[in-house]
Amino acid sequence: MTSTSADNTSTNFNKNSAPQHEQMSQFRVKQGELVAAGYSMTEISQLLNRPAFYVYDRSVINQQVASFRQHIPARIKLHYAVKANPYWPVVEHLRPLVDGFDVASQKEMLLALQSGMPVADISFAGPGKGDAELLSAIIAGVTLNVESLGELQRICQLGAQTAYTPQVALRVNPAFELKASGMKMAGGAKPFGIDEELVLETLAKIADMPVRLRGFHIFCGSQNLKAEALIEAHQHTFGLAAKLVAACPYRPEMVNLGGGFGIPYFAGERRLDLAPVGESLQGLLQKYDDELAGIELVIELGRYIVAEAGLYACQVVDKKQSRGTTYLVCNGGLHHHLANSGNFGQVIRKNYPVAIANKFNQAETELVTVVGPLCTPLDILADRMVLPKAEVGDWVVVYQSGAYGPTASPQDFLGHPNVAEILL
Ligand SMILES: *Cc1c(COP(=O)(O)O)cnc(C)c1O
Repeated sequence: MTSTSADNTSTNFNKNSAPQHEQMSQFRVKQGELVAAGYSMTEISQLLNRPAFYVYDRSVINQQVASFRQHIPARIKLHYAVKANPYWPVVEHLRPLVDGFDVASQKEMLLALQSGMPVADISFAGPGKGDAELLSAIIAGVTLNVESLGELQRICQLGAQTAYTPQVALRVNPAFELKASGMKMAGGAKPFGIDEELVLETLAKIADMPVRLRGFHIFCGSQNLKAEALIEAHQHTFGLAAKLVAACPYRPEMVNLGGGFGIPYFAGERRLDLAPVGESLQGLLQKYDDELAGIELVIELGRYIVAEAGLYACQVVDKKQSRGTTYLVCNGGLHHHLANSGNFGQVIRKNYPVAIANKFNQAETELVTVVGPLCTPLDILADRMVLPKAEVGDWVVVYQSGAYGPTASPQDFLGHPNVAEILL
């Protein structure tokens, strides 16, 4: 195989036109074509015999886990939040790389169980768990992260119907919040967790309840790129954990410290620097050495582990002009990738990093709007982006697509074919 050094070192085809591509160095370019695990988009499409797909590169997943291990003290365990990407080969790949799985439904729980992850390392969070789901988790023996006092009561009643003692962790809605988060999930009134004040009252009664209190779950928010914000939240979290552990009638086994590590999606966003986060955690471990002695500490991450490993790819099927705007119309869009369309947690739509995968060597660029096949103005892949000049048959790829992809998208909307997935 021949390739020049310019070919395979980076994806920076044009710094002026698409500055966000500077951070997309996890995939290589060979002879002008973007490759994932060595395969071009055309080859992956032929491999799958499908016109639109997600490809996940296992080496990028490995790098993300390695970067966590490198910076975060070994005393802190890493759990994977399965909802970020429940594709079975990804779950199986992660099984030996992480220390536990966090699940948010019975279906995810069954995936985690069948991966061979020990039940003691599986926790089940989420509001609105039904009796059947709770019963299933009690029989499995996984740790139920309890979201309300009503849920705790139902767990006690359901446990009595089985031969098992329910294993629970109280999910705490702390009085503080994680600042600068893409999604805040604590502080103030929340459907998640039990208010800090109520947890302390509950602990006074927990010894008389027919459950085993394994520990606590303190999760504040998601998609955070600011080390200082995470450090501040960790300081509060350790303080709260020490207070809760001290108030327990017996020694709990674990505290889940939450997660929230973000990844850069949009132009101008800086990568999260894990070095200061790790240093601060090291300091907190020393400070709370006595209070938290022997207690397993966990950080749970979803997108940080898988998002950068994924590319979404679809093909241009039409190119048209409309009153001065050039449209690339693709065979994939919002129904496959809701998050990229801006309709999954974004207030103002911003473009994900997008590229024409087979045109990295082409100097000529064009201002285009890339849309999908759905009959709605919401179906946008890229809004007014300068990209290499593309034609029908070219490949449009969206980076940072390994989390909240197919399972977070309305695939049946309009009835177009579903999207394929592959881990390479
Ligand atoms: C969704 C969720 C996660 C994963 O969030 P990411 O932003 O993907 O890391 C972790 N923990 C809980 C409790 C969640 O609800």
